[in-house]
Amino acid sequence: MIIPKKVSRPTKAEEEKILELEEAKKKFVPTVALPTKGKKIPELLRGFRDILPDEQPYWDFFRDTARSLAESYGFERIELPILEKEELFIRTVGKQTDIVEKEIYTFEDKGGDKVILRPEMTASAARAYINHGMLNLPQPVKLWYMGPTFRYDRPQAGRYRQFNQFGLEAFGSNEPIIDAQIIVATFYLLKSLGIETTTRINSIGTPDSRLAYKTELAAYYRTKKNQICEDCKRRLLKNPLRLLDCKAEECQVVKEGAPQILDWLDEDSKNHFMRVLEFLDEAGVPYTLDPHLVRGLDYYNRTVFEIWAVSDEGERAQNALGGGGRYDGLVELLGGREGTPGCGVALGLERVVMAMKELKIQPPVKKIDVFFAQLGDSARRVGLRIFEDFRQSGISVREAFGKGSLKTQLENANKLEVPFTLILGQKEVLDGTIIVRDMESGAQEIVDAGKIVQIMKKKLEIIKSLDNKG
Ligand code: AMP
Repeated sequence: MIIPKKVSRPTKAEEEKILELEEAKKKFVPTVALPTKGKKIPELLRGFRDILPDEQPYWDFFRDTARSLAESYGFERIELPILEKEELFIRTVGKQTDIVEKEIYTFEDKGGDKVILRPEMTASAARAYINHGMLNLPQPVKLWYMGPTFRYDRPQAGRYRQFNQFGLEAFGSNEPIIDAQIIVATFYLLKSLGIETTTRINSIGTPDSRLAYKTELAAYYRTKKNQICEDCKRRLLKNPLRLLDCKAEECQVVKEGAPQILDWLDEDSKNHFMRVLEFLDEAGVPYTLDPHLVRGLDYYNRTVFEIWAVSDEGERAQNALGGGGRYDGLVELLGGREGTPGCGVALGLERVVMAMKELKIQPPVKKIDVFFAQLGDSARRVGLRIFEDFRQSGISVREAFGKGSLKTQLENANKLEVPFTLILGQKEVLDGTIIVRDMESGAQEIVDAGKIVQIMKKKLEIIKSLDNKG
């Protein structure tokens, strides 16, 4: 005889706890797979990230828009290597810049060459312009690029150690309209993505016109030495222009009272700047004069600018979406033809994607036309061929070959919001038929499997024409 165990009723508190646990179980989605006993899960490096499938629509939206915009403005794509000789960036970006002082990833390769993971791409583009004799092409040579860049920055929101840049560069023209065109193109690129921006703009003149300004700036900062950060104390000795780049809070008030470079500009730079602004006015592209904008790299001269997202409340982010300027000395600095001018912009893709998300911009999603559901082994076998027929005919189709139950497959189809699901079971395979289910009405019809692609093409055309009318 089995003596039933005495079961005591749970107390109210215990009941609540059980309910709570049940709820928690339902919500629990492990973000990290549990480790196999004794094995350590590999971790991402700090400041590096995976861009997962659900973020890809934003990236595709950017990539497709950027490519088509760059090409419609006459820029041609260039792909540049990720690894370069270290010297390329030390010479161009500048020894006393934050990038070279603190942020570069360098190492010696097996052949003993000092190499660098590129921290930006303008210097590489200038190197390529020289290496491939592009000065013999009709000028300006207009190039665009997109790819990963690396800086050993302090990771925080919108600041990574590997990030992606998209850039436009124009070599071989010193016309102010080129500066303006680059700003206008960038403005419209971001606008096409739904991001309104303004350009903060300044001119830093020529190296000569900067000399007197640097002395004046250093004299001013010396009087404020006890109010500035430790980094700025060093900058004051080594490279006073960098003082204006400082992001530390205590240095912002000091910066506000600093002398403005515009008062030290030579006549040519002044005229160049005025013409750039006139072109922007003419194009109706918004900008704000920022007399303390100098940018963090040594190779810039004349026009410098940064792109900032705006909303009804004004500028919205902590970080610029992009920046650029003129670099008339860069090609010569690398041993190219004397006096070859250049101008460009680089956007940070992570920041653009972040802005899209913050602004609740919906990237276009690719619509799937048909879902293919199968029941049983013979249906699966035929299914592979039918799937391929659809793919080749340009109809987008999804399947769940890994699933057995019709209910689960129809749930998948619903999630994808397809207008039609095809259902193929054992009986249909024998009969040479297939079921077409209209997902909106739930109506089903049995059709000839041999003609399924043409049938679906017609049905999809009808839907498209109704959509266009509606
Ligand atoms: P810069 O030439 O330093 O102004 O960089 C151009 C653009 O690249 C910036 O405006 C950012 O959008 C992006 N960028 C620079 N550094 C980072 C970083 N550490 N993480 C993400 N994006 C960055």
